[in-house]
Amino acid sequence: MLELRPNCEYCDKDLPANSAEARICSYECTFCADCVSTVLHNVCPNCGGGFVPRPIRPSVAQRKGVGLVHQVASTKRVHLKHPKDEIADFVSRVKAIAPAER
Ligand SMILES: [Zn+2]
Ligand SMILES: [Zn+2]
Repeated sequence: MLELRPNCEYCDKDLPANSAEARICSYECTFCADCVSTVLHNVCPNCGGGFVPRPIRPSVAQRKGVGLVHQVASTKRVHLKHPKDEIADFVSRVKAIAPAER
């Protein structure tokens, strides 16, 4: 189950559970759409994978026992694990390779 992390790891923008701007990699590294397109060029700086839009969990229980009211979004903010200049080098090396070929 997704943690639904609360912020962009790169710019620290808030990404609430119902945000249409949240992007995640297969490890759920979470970034905003703006950072993914303008800085990361669809390269996760932690794993090198591509991103997809994060699905929105229903806020109310449309079915018994599920929804944000039961499985709440994470409040633990996550921050970059690598320096920004190193990330730029990493992204420039990986971005030319399509995600399915990485
Ligand atoms: Zn961002
Ligand atoms: Zn990742």
